[in-house]
Amino acid sequence: MAIDFTLTPELEDIRVRVRGFVDAVVKPGEDEIAATTGLSRQDYLGILLGLRKQAREVGLWLPHMPQEWGGMGLGHVELAMVQAEAAKTRLGPWVLNCQAPDEGNMHTLLHWGTEEQKEQYLRPLCEGTKASCFAMTEPEVAGSDPTLIQSRAYQDGDEWVINGHKWFISNAHRANFAILIVRTEDDPDLPQAANSAFIVDIPSEGWTEVREVETMHGSTGHSEISIEDLRVPADKMLGGRGEGHLLGQSRLGPARLAHCMRWIAQAEMALDMMVDRALNRFAHGSLLAEKQGIQWMIADSTMELYQAKLMVLHAAYRIDNKLDFRSEVSMAKHFVANALGRIIDRSIQVHGALGYSTDTPLANMYQHARWARFADGADEVHQMRIAQRTIAAYTDTGSTRSATGDLPL
Ligand SMILES: Cc1cc2nc3c(=O)[nH]c(=O)nc-3n(C[C@H](O)[C@H](O)[C@H](O)COP(=O)(O)OP(=O)(O)OC[C@H]3O[C@@H](n4cnc5c(N)ncnc54)[C@H](O)[C@@H]3O)c2cc1C
Repeated sequence: MAIDFTLTPELEDIRVRVRGFVDAVVKPGEDEIAATTGLSRQDYLGILLGLRKQAREVGLWLPHMPQEWGGMGLGHVELAMVQAEAAKTRLGPWVLNCQAPDEGNMHTLLHWGTEEQKEQYLRPLCEGTKASCFAMTEPEVAGSDPTLIQSRAYQDGDEWVINGHKWFISNAHRANFAILIVRTEDDPDLPQAANSAFIVDIPSEGWTEVREVETMHGSTGHSEISIEDLRVPADKMLGGRGEGHLLGQSRLGPARLAHCMRWIAQAEMALDMMVDRALNRFAHGSLLAEKQGIQWMIADSTMELYQAKLMVLHAAYRIDNKLDFRSEVSMAKHFVANALGRIIDRSIQVHGALGYSTDTPLANMYQHARWARFADGADEVHQMRIAQRTIAAYTDTGSTRSATGDLPL
């Protein structure tokens, strides 16, 4: 019987150490930042970098990267438990250097980069001395359909000249380089083969940050970028000509699942808070926890979180075992994103006015949870792909069985 949900003692040790580190080091660091009024940028960075230094010293650094790159060499199943502990705090994944978008960019550079590109860009990302961004979405066309990308590059000798417009580029404000997806091919055999990826140093002449886009959770590092006659040396192409879509897809699978792992942490926090509040709030003759209406909210949230964990673990298992994971990651991404929103919403409900205030983290968590339903693949696009694969499974084999995780049930 190969199905076993227990962790080896070594992995359980890592999980416990991450939890302990988050409680003993990251949370107090975050509290110090929140409690210090007028904190200078230098002091702020000092606290942040101090947290990272401590994570490195105790060997909780780069859980997703191979050991030869200074990482912990964990697979995706193992990474799930690290992310689900680390993301109980806002800064946890960053402190462990496994946060979006650097984490996905590290995977991308590891698998697509030349040796020179790895040394120049992956190495400092792993060292934590550089930051990166991934620039694909454009305001003028639907980000859900990368075949519509309008930003263009044409070759001029040993260089590519790029013009275009991007927005919602997370981390661009702080990044030292971008992985930029633009159109290079006019008449590709497949519409998906029109785009290529380039590594762009920031700052570069021709790359201009127009603004950080103000969002419903504030102005927090998602930038609009104007690109005018940006010249990029030919050896800064990442992957081959026309492989931008392929590269984006291979990046997005694990990166989407890593989001799910972090969302599980957030959903669990919201459920913990929901139960705690229900056990401590008294109304109409009993505690909220004793009322059926509240128990239903707790039960629904518990079942959804359980499903979320199983789906993420199974999708991670498929990635680790080199099985086709596209549908499983799509299903997990869609389900966990929606469950996250519902669980936080219920927790706010149980907290009443307190939940709506900013005295608890719930309001902020709710604002962040909203983007989960359309960024990195909108709900409806995932549903479209899931349905296509289920229909194909049925027409190919006479059964939908392989489309439901290809499980032995
Ligand atoms: C917080 C945040 C961070 C982000 N970070 C990055 C980043 O770092 N880099 C980057 O390149 N982009 C980033 N994005 C952009 C994100 O990837 C896009 O928002 C996403 O791909 C959707 O594209 P769009 O916003 O253009 O929506 P559109 O593609 O215009 O879609 C809008 C809506 O149309 C519907 N829709 C679309 N297609 C279909 C369909 N086939 N069937 C039915 N309905 C459909 C869906 O409801 C969808 O939500 C970020 C976005 C957010 C909010």
